Amino acid sequence: MQMSQSSEILDRAANVLIGNYARLPIVMTRGEGSRVWDAEGNQYLDLFAGFGGCVLGHAHPALIAAATAQAGKLWHVGNTFHTEPQVQLAERLNKTAFTGKAFFCHSGLEANEAAVKLARLRGQSSNPKKWKTISFNKSFHGRSMAMIAATGNPAVKAGFEPAVPGFNQVDLGDLEGLSGALDDEVAAIIVEPIQGEGGIYPVDPHFAVELRRICDAKQITLIYDEVWTGCGRTGKWFGHQYLKDANGNVVLPDILTLGKAVGGGLPVGVMFARPEIAALLVPGKHGCTLGGNPICMNVSKTIFDVIEKEDLVTHAATLGEHGMARLRQDKKIAPKIAGIRGRGLFIGIELKAPPEKLVEKALERGVILNVTSSKVIRLAPPINISLDDWNKGLDLVAESIAAV
Ligand code: PLP
Repeated sequence: MQMSQSSEILDRAANVLIGNYARLPIVMTRGEGSRVWDAEGNQYLDLFAGFGGCVLGHAHPALIAAATAQAGKLWHVGNTFHTEPQVQLAERLNKTAFTGKAFFCHSGLEANEAAVKLARLRGQSSNPKKWKTISFNKSFHGRSMAMIAATGNPAVKAGFEPAVPGFNQVDLGDLEGLSGALDDEVAAIIVEPIQGEGGIYPVDPHFAVELRRICDAKQITLIYDEVWTGCGRTGKWFGHQYLKDANGNVVLPDILTLGKAVGGGLPVGVMFARPEIAALLVPGKHGCTLGGNPICMNVSKTIFDVIEKEDLVTHAATLGEHGMARLRQDKKIAPKIAGIRGRGLFIGIELKAPPEKLVEKALERGVILNVTSSKVIRLAPPINISLDDWNKGLDLVAESIAAV
């Protein structure tokens, strides 16, 4: 009997790949725009963009051109030399975020590790015992030993005890709990402007104002983990740009971290710090051999060019509002919905009960979505998805919800 191309690859995978991912039995072979195709030729509308990585969809011509042009010139020289694409990306961040300086690595967790190291350097420059980090329950910051200690989800930590010391979590928005955890040894507070893995919970701007006030008063470094919320996904360049004080001023962090979308599907992480704090990271304190390699940097800076040129930040905001309104009005799914929340094209649909095999049932209908925290459906399509594809995708999402 002749095996299908997929089942042959799945059999080989079972022999040689570690089973740390709950992979679906589908082999993807090709992508274009907001669509991907599997080895059997089935087509899917991609409303999750590879955990947000493919912010401009698949095989974007401008990104192919950027990668190809750079690949033909220079791949890697190491960070003992300068290369222009790093400078261009850092200039882009200065234009779209705030005045700062950049360090480049490969992933969100590495960016967070670098941020916590820098916060400790800053803390210990004034008090040798200023070393602790406070984060929040339901947060996710990555899977290194330190970042699982920072992550506010017991399941992520289980089996890896004892935890790296110096990390404590409190509830998001709980000022009393926070003040109970604050002492002179706290060097950093790390927070996601919208908690992603935890179930799409946006930070209240008033809470952000308080965080900023506390950090200023106690010389604590405020870190925004924008690994999910960066690069236009939320309908602003960065998710923190929704966090405004009573005068309408954006509540800025001391350090911003990026991953996922900033590489467009390539491995890029960024730690971006206010210049006076960044100045503490002198030679010998931190590094990353392939971090900032010219191919990734050229793609990354081109992502910013395309988002600006095509005004995709506004597009994400408009399509997000439209999508949430459409889902809220759908009578056939209303009895199953506990709440719909999000910003731009980062949307959580909380169901009243955990759905049975929803991801699989959606795939059968030709749409890729994700479920987190057992009953929150997450939608995070490429931010350049057309209105037509978004509408088709939303219809399929609603049909899938109705069917479970
Ligand atoms: N921070 C946040 C908010 C994330 O959602 C993630 C991953 O989902 C990370 C950090 C870790 O990023 P990476 O998987 O690139 O290490």
